[in-house]
Amino acid sequence: MASDYEQPQYTCSICKKQVSSENIRYNAELRTVCAECLKKIGTVAPVQKQKKELRQKAADVEEQAIKVICSSCRYKFTLKPHFRPSCPYCGGSRLQRYDSLTAEGILAQVSSGM
Ligand SMILES: [Zn+2]
Ligand SMILES: [Zn+2]
Repeated sequence: MASDYEQPQYTCSICKKQVSSENIRYNAELRTVCAECLKKIGTVAPVQKQKKELRQKAADVEEQAIKVICSSCRYKFTLKPHFRPSCPYCGGSRLQRYDSLTAEGILAQVSSGM
């Protein structure tokens, strides 16, 4: 079978190899990448990896737990940023930052809310 007809050649943007259209793929940046390189880099493009690292750094900063108090039942607990902001005791979502409030301030809020 004469199946060796001329196929368009593409250049892989990573290894600069000439590959046929059958073996060319596009990464997330829509750059031509050969199938072998795509296997190496996986489905995540390098640019996205960098962004992920930046996000992880930001997450580290935010990782500091916030001390909160539930307005409904006055249950004190530490809220981690990636957790849903709701009271684990009563499920209430009215939370006050505890570390920025004085005991007097909390009492005043509770009495005014009644
Ligand atoms: Zn390649
Ligand atoms: Zn509560």
